[in-house]
Amino acid sequence: MPAHNEASFDSLAGVDLHYARPPVAAYGSRGKKHTFFSTGKLRDTFTAALEELVDMCPLGRPEVLTSAGTFVNKRGQHGKGQAVDVDAIFWADRTFVTDFYLTDTKFYLAVESVFRRHFGIVLNYLYNAAHHDHLHMDLGVSVGFSKGSRSRVLYLQAGLTTIHDHPVLVDGIWGNQTSGAIAEVLDNLGLNGSITSKATWLAYLDRTARLGFGQVEAESDPTPADLLDQLFQIIDGLDLVTDHDQKIQGALDVFVAHPDTQTWLESFR
Ligand SMILES: [Zn+2]
Repeated sequence: MPAHNEASFDSLAGVDLHYARPPVAAYGSRGKKHTFFSTGKLRDTFTAALEELVDMCPLGRPEVLTSAGTFVNKRGQHGKGQAVDVDAIFWADRTFVTDFYLTDTKFYLAVESVFRRHFGIVLNYLYNAAHHDHLHMDLGVSVGFSKGSRSRVLYLQAGLTTIHDHPVLVDGIWGNQTSGAIAEVLDNLGLNGSITSKATWLAYLDRTARLGFGQVEAESDPTPADLLDQLFQIIDGLDLVTDHDQKIQGALDVFVAHPDTQTWLESFR
């Protein structure tokens, strides 16, 4: 077994690695430069993934990546120095924070597609609440698609729905709807073979990453009206069970109903 701390680094692939968790720094900020420890294999795999991200993402090389940790003294792949948690990635003109999955879905899935070409295990926002604020990646199993893997099926279903315009139920369960959609999408992409073949999986991830980044780039900058619309979509997703939720909804309704707000919104149409 390689030692969990055989490699130490505070930058990889020309990207500075920072830590941004309390009490050191606020989550979602650039945080502070930090030295991480892992096996050599984890360091090399992560380096290759970041180099590929630089290659595929139109924004080029990020300046900073924040990680909640690589080696962590606990059970599982983190304890072996074989895992990394990515909180956020910062380019000069763009910030990607994993916790913003719901409003930055295409970009999130494009980044995840790149990472999945290198890491067999990726746990994303959809996996469970514990993974809302970071992408977990580890070397516990080799790269490939498996119909019985909830984390992989969730990713596939989200990408079919959001990037490939083949909406399916995103429930993590492989079924006829998902298998039909991926077959059509593979056909549209001109990819042969089954998604369970490693070559097809890698090609699908490559195409999904490039398509996702391209779609984000093609979308014009949102207007304030678009941002307000996003805010409503988020509030519609809340349960509105608490007084607090209802007060937010009520305050937003009053704001939008104000005649001056209506005049302002008209200016975007
Ligand atoms: Zn983790």
